[in-house]
Amino acid sequence: MNEFLSSRVKNLATSQTLAMAAKAKELRSKGVDIIGLSLGEPDFNTPDFIKSAAVKAIEENYNSYTPVDGYDALKDSIIHKFKRDNNLNFKKSQIVVSTGAKQSLYNIASVLIEKNDEVILPCPYWVSYSDIIKLKGGVPVEIKTDIKNDFKMTAAELESSITPNTKMIWFSSPCNPSGSVYNMDELKSLVKVLEKHEKIFVVSDEIYEHINYLGKHFSIGSFDEIRDRVITVNGVSKAFAMTGWRIGYLGGPEWIARACNKIQGQVTSGANCIAQRAVITALNEDPKKIKYMVDEFKSRRDLILRLLSNVKGFVCNKPDGAFYVFPDISFYFNKTIDGIAINNASEMSMFLLEKAQVATVTGNAFGNPNCIRISYAASKDKIIEAIERIKKCLS
Ligand code: PMP
Ligand code: GLU
Repeated sequence: MNEFLSSRVKNLATSQTLAMAAKAKELRSKGVDIIGLSLGEPDFNTPDFIKSAAVKAIEENYNSYTPVDGYDALKDSIIHKFKRDNNLNFKKSQIVVSTGAKQSLYNIASVLIEKNDEVILPCPYWVSYSDIIKLKGGVPVEIKTDIKNDFKMTAAELESSITPNTKMIWFSSPCNPSGSVYNMDELKSLVKVLEKHEKIFVVSDEIYEHINYLGKHFSIGSFDEIRDRVITVNGVSKAFAMTGWRIGYLGGPEWIARACNKIQGQVTSGANCIAQRAVITALNEDPKKIKYMVDEFKSRRDLILRLLSNVKGFVCNKPDGAFYVFPDISFYFNKTIDGIAINNASEMSMFLLEKAQVATVTGNAFGNPNCIRISYAASKDKIIEAIERIKKCLS
Protein backbone atom coordinates (compact mmCIF):
# COMPACT_ATOMS: atom_id res chain seq x y z
CA MET A 1 0.00 0.00 0.00
CA ASN A 2 3.07 2.23 -0.07
CA GLU A 3 1.82 3.92 -3.23
CA PHE A 4 -0.67 5.82 -1.07
CA LEU A 5 2.06 7.50 0.95
CA SER A 6 2.94 11.10 0.20
CA SER A 7 6.08 11.70 -1.84
CA ARG A 8 7.19 13.83 1.09
CA VAL A 9 7.55 10.80 3.35
CA LYS A 10 8.69 8.50 0.56
CA ASN A 11 11.65 10.82 0.00
CA LEU A 12 12.45 11.06 3.69
CA ALA A 13 15.35 8.96 5.00
CA THR A 14 14.90 6.97 8.21
CA SER A 15 16.95 8.38 11.11
CA GLN A 16 20.02 6.14 10.96
CA THR A 17 20.94 6.65 14.62
CA LEU A 18 17.53 5.40 15.70
CA ALA A 19 17.49 2.66 13.04
CA MET A 20 20.83 1.25 14.22
CA ALA A 21 19.71 1.38 17.86
CA ALA A 22 16.53 -0.54 16.91
CA LYS A 23 18.56 -3.12 14.98
CA ALA A 24 20.90 -3.63 17.95
CA LYS A 25 17.90 -4.04 20.25
CA GLU A 26 16.30 -6.58 17.93
CA LEU A 27 19.50 -8.65 17.73
CA ARG A 28 19.87 -8.49 21.51
CA SER A 29 16.30 -9.79 21.95
CA LYS A 30 17.33 -12.79 19.80
CA GLY A 31 20.16 -13.52 22.21
CA VAL A 32 23.03 -11.91 20.25
CA ASP A 33 25.49 -10.22 22.62
CA ILE A 34 25.53 -6.77 21.00
CA ILE A 35 27.41 -3.86 22.56
CA GLY A 36 25.44 -0.78 21.60
CA LEU A 37 27.65 2.22 20.87
CA SER A 38 25.33 3.65 18.25
CA LEU A 39 22.88 5.82 20.15
CA GLY A 40 23.72 9.21 21.64
CA GLU A 41 22.01 8.63 24.93
CA PRO A 42 23.55 9.05 28.40
CA ASP A 43 23.63 5.78 30.37
CA PHE A 44 22.99 7.64 33.65
CA ASN A 45 19.69 7.90 35.48
CA THR A 46 17.99 11.28 35.58
CA PRO A 47 19.32 12.95 38.78
CA ASP A 48 17.13 12.47 41.87
CA PHE A 49 16.52 16.20 42.44
CA ILE A 50 14.85 16.36 39.02
CA LYS A 51 12.83 13.18 39.52
CA SER A 52 11.52 14.54 42.85
CA ALA A 53 10.33 17.71 41.12
CA ALA A 54 8.34 15.58 38.66
CA VAL A 55 6.76 13.51 41.44
CA LYS A 56 5.80 16.71 43.24
CA ALA A 57 4.23 18.09 40.05
CA ILE A 58 2.08 14.97 39.71
CA GLU A 59 1.02 15.20 43.34
CA GLU A 60 0.19 18.88 42.92
CA ASN A 61 -2.10 17.97 40.02
CA TYR A 62 -0.25 19.51 37.14
CA ASN A 63 -2.34 17.74 34.57
CA SER A 64 -3.82 20.35 32.24
CA TYR A 65 -2.67 21.74 28.92
CA THR A 66 0.20 24.15 29.43
CA PRO A 67 0.61 27.38 27.47
CA VAL A 68 1.60 26.31 23.92
CA ASP A 69 5.11 27.74 24.25
CA GLY A 70 5.66 26.49 27.81
CA TYR A 71 4.88 27.41 31.43
CA ASP A 72 5.79 30.98 32.37
CA ALA A 73 7.91 29.64 35.24
CA LEU A 74 9.85 27.45 32.81
CA LYS A 75 10.39 30.34 30.43
CA ASP A 76 11.75 32.31 33.42
CA SER A 77 14.19 29.47 34.17
CA ILE A 78 15.28 29.34 30.53
CA ILE A 79 15.80 33.13 30.46
CA HIS A 80 17.85 32.82 33.67
CA LYS A 81 19.88 29.92 32.20
CA PHE A 82 20.58 31.75 28.92
CA LYS A 83 21.78 34.80 30.88
CA ARG A 84 23.82 32.80 33.42
CA ASP A 85 25.55 30.43 31.00
CA ASN A 86 25.47 32.09 27.59
CA ASN A 87 25.34 35.86 27.95
CA LEU A 88 22.06 35.83 26.00
CA ASN A 89 19.19 38.15 26.96
CA PHE A 90 15.68 37.14 26.07
CA LYS A 91 12.13 38.17 26.97
CA LYS A 92 9.46 35.51 27.53
CA SER A 93 8.03 36.17 24.07
CA GLN A 94 11.35 35.02 22.58
CA ILE A 95 11.30 31.57 24.16
CA VAL A 96 9.48 28.44 22.95
CA VAL A 97 9.55 25.12 24.81
CA SER A 98 9.08 22.04 22.62
CA THR A 99 8.95 18.26 22.63
CA GLY A 100 12.73 17.87 22.45
CA ALA A 101 15.32 19.99 20.69
CA LYS A 102 14.44 17.98 17.60
CA GLN A 103 11.03 19.62 17.53
CA SER A 104 12.58 23.06 18.12
CA LEU A 105 14.69 22.47 14.98
CA TYR A 106 11.66 21.22 13.05
CA ASN A 107 9.67 24.32 14.07
CA ILE A 108 12.46 26.63 12.91
CA ALA A 109 12.62 24.87 9.55
CA SER A 110 8.83 25.08 9.24
CA VAL A 111 8.69 28.82 9.82
CA LEU A 112 11.77 29.95 7.86
CA ILE A 113 12.44 27.64 4.93
CA GLU A 114 10.85 28.36 1.56
CA LYS A 115 11.22 25.97 -1.37
CA ASN A 116 14.81 25.95 -2.71
CA ASP A 117 16.22 28.01 0.15
CA GLU A 118 19.79 26.89 0.78
CA VAL A 119 20.84 25.89 4.27
CA ILE A 120 24.57 25.59 4.93
CA LEU A 121 25.61 22.51 6.91
CA PRO A 122 29.22 22.16 7.97
CA CYS A 123 30.03 18.43 7.62
CA PRO A 124 29.83 16.28 9.61
CA TYR A 125 26.47 17.46 10.90
CA TRP A 126 23.86 15.86 13.09
CA VAL A 127 21.87 13.21 11.24
CA SER A 128 18.43 14.88 11.28
CA TYR A 129 19.42 18.36 10.02
CA SER A 130 19.52 17.50 6.34
CA ASP A 131 16.27 15.53 6.32
CA ILE A 132 14.34 18.13 8.31
CA ILE A 133 15.58 20.77 5.85
CA LYS A 134 14.65 18.66 2.82
CA LEU A 135 11.25 17.87 4.29
CA LYS A 136 10.55 21.61 4.25
CA GLY A 137 11.71 22.01 0.63
CA GLY A 138 15.12 23.44 1.52
CA VAL A 139 18.42 22.46 -0.06
CA PRO A 140 21.25 21.42 2.29
CA VAL A 141 24.61 22.82 1.16
CA GLU A 142 27.45 20.90 2.74
CA ILE A 143 30.79 22.38 3.74
CA LYS A 144 33.34 19.56 3.82
CA THR A 145 35.67 19.96 6.78
CA ASP A 146 38.99 18.30 7.44
CA ILE A 147 39.87 15.99 10.33
CA LYS A 148 43.20 17.88 10.48
CA ASN A 149 41.22 21.02 11.35
CA ASP A 150 39.27 19.09 13.99
CA PHE A 151 36.32 18.92 11.54
CA LYS A 152 35.66 22.65 11.96
CA MET A 153 34.66 25.00 9.13
CA THR A 154 36.86 28.01 8.52
CA ALA A 155 35.60 31.52 7.81
CA ALA A 156 36.85 31.20 4.21
CA GLU A 157 34.91 27.94 3.71
CA LEU A 158 31.77 29.55 5.10
CA GLU A 159 32.20 32.61 2.86
CA SER A 160 32.65 30.54 -0.29
CA SER A 161 29.52 28.46 0.33
CA ILE A 162 27.23 31.51 0.55
CA THR A 163 25.06 32.21 -2.51
CA PRO A 164 22.12 34.58 -3.10
CA ASN A 165 19.85 31.68 -2.09
CA THR A 166 21.44 31.08 1.31
CA LYS A 167 18.84 31.37 4.03
CA MET A 168 20.55 29.88 7.07
CA ILE A 169 23.45 28.02 8.53
CA TRP A 170 22.85 25.20 11.04
CA PHE A 171 25.58 23.78 13.24
CA SER A 172 26.17 22.23 16.64
CA SER A 173 28.98 23.04 19.05
CA PRO A 174 29.97 20.81 20.77
CA CYS A 175 29.34 18.89 17.57
CA ASN A 176 27.48 15.65 17.17
CA PRO A 177 29.19 13.56 15.71
CA SER A 178 32.76 14.98 15.76
CA GLY A 179 32.84 16.35 19.32
CA SER A 180 34.46 19.55 17.98
CA VAL A 181 33.98 22.71 20.01
CA TYR A 182 34.28 26.17 18.45
CA ASN A 183 36.23 28.57 20.64
CA MET A 184 35.59 32.29 20.95
CA ASP A 185 38.09 33.28 18.23
CA GLU A 186 36.78 30.73 15.76
CA LEU A 187 33.21 31.94 16.31
CA LYS A 188 34.36 35.54 15.95
CA SER A 189 35.85 34.80 12.54
CA LEU A 190 32.58 33.20 11.41
CA VAL A 191 30.65 36.20 12.75
CA LYS A 192 32.83 38.52 10.63
CA VAL A 193 31.58 36.70 7.53
CA LEU A 194 27.94 36.51 8.64
CA GLU A 195 27.91 40.18 9.60
CA LYS A 196 28.17 41.09 5.91
CA HIS A 197 25.17 38.96 4.94
CA GLU A 198 22.21 40.50 6.71
CA LYS A 199 19.63 38.04 5.39
CA ILE A 200 21.32 34.88 6.67
CA PHE A 201 20.07 33.32 9.90
CA VAL A 202 22.04 31.10 12.24
CA VAL A 203 20.71 28.05 14.05
CA SER A 204 23.08 27.30 16.88
CA ASP A 205 22.39 23.87 18.37
CA GLU A 206 23.95 23.88 21.84
CA ILE A 207 22.42 20.72 23.27
CA TYR A 208 25.89 19.40 24.29
CA GLU A 209 26.83 22.72 25.90
CA HIS A 210 27.62 21.25 29.33
CA ILE A 211 29.43 18.21 27.95
CA ASN A 212 32.46 20.33 27.10
CA TYR A 213 35.89 19.27 28.36
CA LEU A 214 37.45 22.67 27.66
CA GLY A 215 35.34 24.17 30.41
CA LYS A 216 34.04 27.28 28.67
CA HIS A 217 31.20 27.26 26.19
CA PHE A 218 30.62 30.19 23.81
CA SER A 219 27.31 30.98 22.12
CA ILE A 220 27.43 32.57 18.70
CA GLY A 221 24.22 34.44 19.58
CA SER A 222 26.14 36.48 22.15
CA PHE A 223 27.92 38.48 19.41
CA ASP A 224 26.13 41.82 19.05
CA GLU A 225 26.83 41.98 15.30
CA ILE A 226 24.43 39.11 14.52
CA ARG A 227 22.47 38.70 17.77
CA ASP A 228 19.11 39.45 16.12
CA ARG A 229 19.62 36.69 13.51
CA VAL A 230 20.60 33.80 15.76
CA ILE A 231 18.24 31.15 17.08
CA THR A 232 19.81 29.23 19.96
CA VAL A 233 18.49 25.69 20.46
CA ASN A 234 19.08 23.70 23.61
CA GLY A 235 17.46 20.97 25.70
CA VAL A 236 17.86 18.69 28.67
CA SER A 237 18.27 15.29 26.97
CA LYS A 238 22.05 15.11 27.13
CA ALA A 239 23.45 17.01 30.11
CA PHE A 240 20.63 16.03 32.47
CA ALA A 241 20.21 12.45 31.19
CA MET A 242 16.58 13.15 30.26
CA THR A 243 16.25 11.86 26.68
CA GLY A 244 12.84 10.29 27.23
CA TRP A 245 11.35 13.32 28.96
CA ARG A 246 11.32 15.12 25.61
CA ILE A 247 11.95 18.75 26.50
CA GLY A 248 13.91 21.13 24.29
CA TYR A 249 13.69 24.88 23.80
CA LEU A 250 14.79 27.80 21.68
CA GLY A 251 15.55 31.46 22.24
CA GLY A 252 15.55 33.78 19.25
CA PRO A 253 14.03 36.82 17.58
CA GLU A 254 10.49 37.41 18.82
CA TRP A 255 8.91 37.15 15.35
CA ILE A 256 10.50 33.73 14.82
CA ALA A 257 9.54 32.50 18.30
CA ARG A 258 5.93 33.64 17.79
CA ALA A 259 5.79 31.84 14.43
CA CYS A 260 7.08 28.63 16.10
CA ASN A 261 4.40 29.09 18.76
CA LYS A 262 1.76 29.34 16.02
CA ILE A 263 2.95 26.11 14.36
CA GLN A 264 3.12 24.28 17.68
CA GLY A 265 -0.39 25.45 18.56
CA GLN A 266 -1.68 23.58 15.51
CA VAL A 267 0.51 20.52 15.89
CA THR A 268 1.17 19.51 19.52
CA SER A 269 -0.50 22.11 21.81
CA GLY A 270 2.76 22.18 23.77
CA ALA A 271 5.17 19.91 25.63
CA ASN A 272 4.35 17.51 28.47
CA CYS A 273 3.32 19.32 31.69
CA ILE A 274 5.13 17.09 34.25
CA ALA A 275 8.38 17.12 32.28
CA GLN A 276 8.18 20.92 32.02
CA ARG A 277 7.85 21.25 35.82
CA ALA A 278 10.87 18.98 36.32
CA VAL A 279 12.95 21.01 33.87
CA ILE A 280 12.29 24.21 35.87
CA THR A 281 14.18 22.55 38.72
CA ALA A 282 16.92 21.22 36.41
CA LEU A 283 17.68 24.60 34.85
CA ASN A 284 17.54 26.60 38.09
CA GLU A 285 20.25 24.40 39.65
CA ASP A 286 23.93 25.20 39.40
CA PRO A 287 25.35 23.15 36.46
CA LYS A 288 28.02 21.93 38.94
CA LYS A 289 25.37 19.52 40.19
CA ILE A 290 25.63 17.48 36.98
CA LYS A 291 29.41 17.72 36.62
CA TYR A 292 29.89 14.14 37.87
CA MET A 293 28.44 12.91 34.56
CA VAL A 294 30.62 15.25 32.49
CA ASP A 295 33.74 14.11 34.41
CA GLU A 296 32.86 10.50 33.71
CA PHE A 297 32.34 11.21 29.98
CA LYS A 298 35.74 12.92 29.87
CA SER A 299 37.44 9.95 31.44
CA ARG A 300 35.71 7.64 28.93
CA ARG A 301 36.79 9.90 26.08
CA ASP A 302 40.40 9.54 27.18
CA LEU A 303 39.96 5.79 27.50
CA ILE A 304 38.40 5.26 24.07
CA LEU A 305 41.00 7.46 22.34
CA ARG A 306 43.77 5.48 24.00
CA LEU A 307 42.20 2.18 22.96
CA LEU A 308 41.53 3.31 19.38
CA SER A 309 45.10 4.52 18.96
CA ASN A 310 46.00 0.81 18.97
CA VAL A 311 43.48 -0.12 16.28
CA LYS A 312 45.15 -0.06 12.88
CA GLY A 313 43.55 2.29 10.37
CA PHE A 314 41.36 4.22 12.84
CA VAL A 315 42.31 7.91 12.68
CA CYS A 316 40.67 10.14 15.30
CA ASN A 317 40.52 13.84 16.09
CA LYS A 318 40.48 14.67 19.80
CA PRO A 319 36.86 15.55 20.60
CA ASP A 320 36.55 18.37 23.14
CA GLY A 321 32.89 17.75 23.87
CA ALA A 322 29.74 15.61 23.39
CA PHE A 323 30.19 11.84 23.79
CA TYR A 324 31.25 10.56 20.40
CA VAL A 325 34.41 9.71 18.54
CA PHE A 326 34.32 9.91 14.76
CA PRO A 327 37.27 7.91 13.40
CA ASP A 328 38.21 8.01 9.73
CA ILE A 329 38.29 4.35 8.72
CA SER A 330 38.88 4.82 4.95
CA PHE A 331 42.12 2.81 5.33
CA TYR A 332 39.91 -0.30 5.05
CA PHE A 333 38.09 0.69 1.86
CA ASN A 334 38.59 -1.75 -1.02
CA LYS A 335 39.99 -4.36 1.35
CA THR A 336 38.46 -7.74 2.09
CA ILE A 337 38.36 -9.09 5.63
CA ASP A 338 37.20 -12.62 6.36
CA GLY A 339 35.85 -12.77 2.82
CA ILE A 340 33.76 -9.63 3.31
CA ALA A 341 34.52 -6.60 1.13
CA ILE A 342 34.52 -3.22 2.86
CA ASN A 343 34.05 -0.43 0.35
CA ASN A 344 32.52 2.32 2.43
CA ALA A 345 31.64 3.42 5.96
CA SER A 346 28.18 1.80 5.87
CA GLU A 347 29.76 -1.56 5.01
CA MET A 348 32.28 -1.09 7.83
CA SER A 349 29.49 -0.32 10.30
CA MET A 350 27.58 -3.45 9.19
CA PHE A 351 30.78 -5.52 9.31
CA LEU A 352 31.39 -4.42 12.91
CA LEU A 353 27.80 -5.22 13.83
CA GLU A 354 27.97 -8.70 12.35
CA LYS A 355 31.55 -9.71 13.12
CA ALA A 356 32.39 -7.79 16.31
CA GLN A 357 28.80 -7.45 17.48
CA VAL A 358 29.38 -3.79 18.16
CA ALA A 359 26.78 -1.25 16.98
CA THR A 360 28.13 2.02 15.53
CA VAL A 361 26.66 4.49 13.01
CA THR A 362 27.95 5.04 9.49
CA GLY A 363 29.43 8.47 8.78
CA ASN A 364 27.17 8.69 5.71
CA ALA A 365 24.36 9.58 8.12
CA PHE A 366 26.33 12.67 9.12
CA GLY A 367 27.53 13.69 5.65
CA ASN A 368 31.01 12.14 5.94
CA PRO A 369 31.39 8.81 4.12
CA ASN A 370 34.93 8.11 5.41
CA CYS A 371 34.07 7.86 9.10
CA ILE A 372 31.96 5.94 11.58
CA ARG A 373 30.51 7.32 14.80
CA ILE A 374 31.13 5.52 18.07
CA SER A 375 29.23 6.73 21.13
CA TYR A 376 31.04 6.43 24.45
CA ALA A 377 27.90 7.00 26.49
CA ALA A 378 28.43 3.47 27.80
CA SER A 379 30.28 1.94 30.76
CA LYS A 380 34.07 1.66 30.65
CA ASP A 381 33.80 -2.13 30.71
CA LYS A 382 31.61 -2.08 27.62
CA ILE A 383 33.93 0.36 25.86
CA ILE A 384 36.98 -1.81 26.60
CA GLU A 385 35.23 -4.97 25.44
CA ALA A 386 33.86 -3.29 22.29
CA ILE A 387 37.19 -1.89 21.12
CA GLU A 388 38.90 -5.20 21.89
CA ARG A 389 36.33 -6.99 19.70
CA ILE A 390 36.76 -4.43 16.90
CA LYS A 391 40.53 -4.75 17.03
CA LYS A 392 40.35 -8.53 16.96
CA CYS A 393 38.01 -8.80 14.01
CA LEU A 394 39.99 -6.31 11.94
CA SER A 395 43.38 -7.82 12.55
N1 PMP B 1 20.70 18.15 18.31
C1 PMP B 1 21.72 17.28 18.42
C2 PMP B 1 23.07 17.72 17.95
C3 PMP B 1 21.52 16.00 18.96
O1 PMP B 1 22.53 15.15 19.06
C4 PMP B 1 20.22 15.63 19.36
C5 PMP B 1 20.05 14.20 19.87
N2 PMP B 1 19.06 13.88 20.57
C6 PMP B 1 19.19 16.58 19.24
C7 PMP B 1 19.47 17.82 18.71
C8 PMP B 1 17.79 16.29 19.65
O2 PMP B 1 17.66 16.20 21.02
P1 PMP B 1 16.27 16.00 21.78
O3 PMP B 1 16.40 14.70 22.48
O4 PMP B 1 16.16 17.15 22.73
O5 PMP B 1 15.21 16.01 20.75
N1 GLU C 1 20.88 12.52 19.19
C1 GLU C 1 21.11 11.13 19.47
C2 GLU C 1 22.02 10.55 18.42
O1 GLU C 1 22.54 11.27 17.63
C3 GLU C 1 19.81 10.40 19.67
C4 GLU C 1 19.16 9.79 18.47
C5 GLU C 1 18.42 10.76 17.64
O2 GLU C 1 17.68 11.57 18.16
O3 GLU C 1 18.62 10.68 16.42
O4 GLU C 1 22.27 9.38 18.43
